[in-house]
Parts: sequence; structure tokens; C-alpha cells
Amino acid sequence: MPTISFLGSGNAFCPSGRLHSLVLIEDTLLVDAPPTVVPQMRSHGVCPSQITDLFITHWHGDHIFGVPFLLLERKWISDREGANKLMIHSHLGGKDKLEQLCELAYPESLGDLQWVSYNTEHGETKGWKFERFEVCHNPITEPYGYRFEKDGFILVHCGDSGPCDNIERLAPEADVMIIELGIPDYVDSPYHYTPSRLTDLALRNPDTIFLATHNFSNSGESSELPKNVIEVEDGDVFKY
Ligand SMILES: [Zn+2]
Ligand SMILES: [Zn+2]
Repeated sequence: MPTISFLGSGNAFCPSGRLHSLVLIEDTLLVDAPPTVVPQMRSHGVCPSQITDLFITHWHGDHIFGVPFLLLERKWISDREGANKLMIHSHLGGKDKLEQLCELAYPESLGDLQWVSYNTEHGETKGWKFERFEVCHNPITEPYGYRFEKDGFILVHCGDSGPCDNIERLAPEADVMIIELGIPDYVDSPYHYTPSRLTDLALRNPDTIFLATHNFSNSGESSELPKNVIEVEDGDVFKY
């Protein structure tokens, strides 16, 4: 039974009571690495070395700036022997970008990690088939989402995005769709879902459960959303 844990549920601004959005699938697959990824894992009893796969959605700081901290922790604390392999899944140019980020953060400390390797757009890990798909966010950030499938269960993480063809295509078949609810309705940007855009999507896909994360509201405050939408909180765990 797949377990989806939210180690954070806030957008870039970390509204009160929320750390940056962070999704952990079955205790081993991590989607993105926000700046406080290590303390977020610690406060939920997750050891950095148990992560086998890190899926990068796009190049915004609230999604990737934790990568050097995650690697540093594993190298010096939880996986000193380098026994646990970590696969990083990102856009093809991602390796260079992440190496630059690591070199900036900890010069000459992280460049020799033999247990980190990179993958391209689709594959299989821990029984999950996955594929990356393009979404609608500022194009300079190279934005993607991921479709995961295991034993007939389909989980789609939409990354940071506004409405787009791929999300429309995947919403009907998804059992669970993770949507990043970045901004309120009064902010004018095509690059994020708002409550009214998510309401529209959810009403047209009544058999799909939408987990709204990357929230702009403070913890405990909720928007008016259809009953197949759950606004998640930090620490929420869902089992399907
Ligand atoms: Zn973000
Ligand atoms: Zn973003």
C-alpha cells in the first residue's frame, strides 16, 4: 500500500506553520530538496541515507537548494561508507547545475560522490515505473512533473505548475494527483494553480483525489475546494 508523506506543505514563502513543500513516497523516494530538507526529514524520523531516489522538478530555490545539505549529511553522517546509492532524476542538464550548486555550497567537498548517479526521463525504481513530463511554469526553470505507477496505482506529482495539457491528460487516470497550489486567485500568473483553477480541475475529475501542497495560506486556513481535494499540512501521511 503506497504511503505518501508530506514533510512540508508550504510555497516559497513558508507561510506560518508550513515549511517548504516536500513529498516522500514509501520512505525512499523524495520529490525535490528544499533548503531545510535535512531538518524536515529529521523532525519526521526519516534518515537521509534511506533515500534511494531524488526527483527534481525544476530550478527554483525552494525545490533544490537542499541538495548540498542532503549530500553532505549522507557523506559525513548517515552513509559514511557510501553504501547506499542515490539516484538523482533531473532534466539532462541537471547534473551540471547541481554540481555547480554543491561546489558553491561546499567547495571541493561534494564533487567526489561515487554513489550519486543521474538518470533521464523515465525508468523504474523500487517497483515504481516513473516518467517525467513537461508542465507550465517559468520556462527558464525547466519545469517538470512525474508520473509514478506501481501495481496499478497511479500517482502524479505535478511539480510547480499552472494548468497545462499534460496535467489535463493525466488527471483522469491518476488515483492521486499532487498539485502545488502556489498563489491566491488575485495574483495574476499562468505558472501556478490557484483555488479556482484547482476547483475547476477537481470538479471535472471527480474520481481523482487531489492533494494540494506548496500552499500559500497559513497552516489551518483552508480555501473552499471540492471534496476530492485535500489541502495537506506538514506531517500529513496518506496510505492508499
Ligand atoms: Zn516552489
Ligand atoms: Zn517554482
